[in-house]
Amino acid sequence: MLDHSPGSGDAAASSDPFVFHEVTDAGGRAVHVAFTSVQAGNLAFHVLPDGSGHQRERARQGVAAARTRLEERMGVDAGSTAFVDQIHSADVVDAEGAGWGDGPVRVGDAIVSAGGSQALAIMVADCLPVVFVDPVTGATAVAHAGRRGLQDGVLQNTLDRLAALRPADAGAGEPVRAWIGPGVCGACYEVPEQMRAESATVLPVASATTSWGTPSLDLPAGAEAVLAARGVDVHRVQLCTVEDERLFSHRRAPGRGRFAGLVWRTP
Ligand SMILES: [Zn+2]
Repeated sequence: MLDHSPGSGDAAASSDPFVFHEVTDAGGRAVHVAFTSVQAGNLAFHVLPDGSGHQRERARQGVAAARTRLEERMGVDAGSTAFVDQIHSADVVDAEGAGWGDGPVRVGDAIVSAGGSQALAIMVADCLPVVFVDPVTGATAVAHAGRRGLQDGVLQNTLDRLAALRPADAGAGEPVRAWIGPGVCGACYEVPEQMRAESATVLPVASATTSWGTPSLDLPAGAEAVLAARGVDVHRVQLCTVEDERLFSHRRAPGRGRFAGLVWRTP
């Protein structure tokens, strides 16, 4: 069903920090939407190797360097991209102009930039990264939608926040656009039967079967259904993290790192 790209590319392709990068127009302004590859490195401070304090400090410096290199490639200031401490919640945080270089980041699983001028990042490795652009207001957002977040409404909460930014007299207008990034696919995401049954009460479309015939969840299908029900213009990046080695996967290789869904504007 899904169009999975092979994990091995040629040398030129494998140095690309993005597995997907698209520029979309929002009210006459160019907005970039991208998902990073393993070539961009591990972007998560919370995924560090066990070991001595010295080793962990070196790994932390590696994450900071990877984020800075990525920002250089994006064309935004070092440390200016907003990240959050993700906890599988359905909580949405306003970016408020603060990047990861400015101090402690806040806790939540989605970030909104009301003006769209702030670069945003959400980290994943099997859960879904979802990027939003509102062509009416220019607002942008990113969300971390794993099984729990999806069931608890992280996508709906993000859409509510974007809707609240639209002027009351804007009417229906052009729909919000969303990109569902790479994540574990329904053929790979095995779960206990009980978990699939619980999920089905909230999101029946996500019930699926693995390629080896056991109960699974199809999170991308679930996310698409949630977004489509709200009238969103949905784009799917059909890459499976478990099958595609250009991406970090917690299921295939735990503890290696996190990639990111990104949205940003360049002057
Ligand atoms: Zn898969």
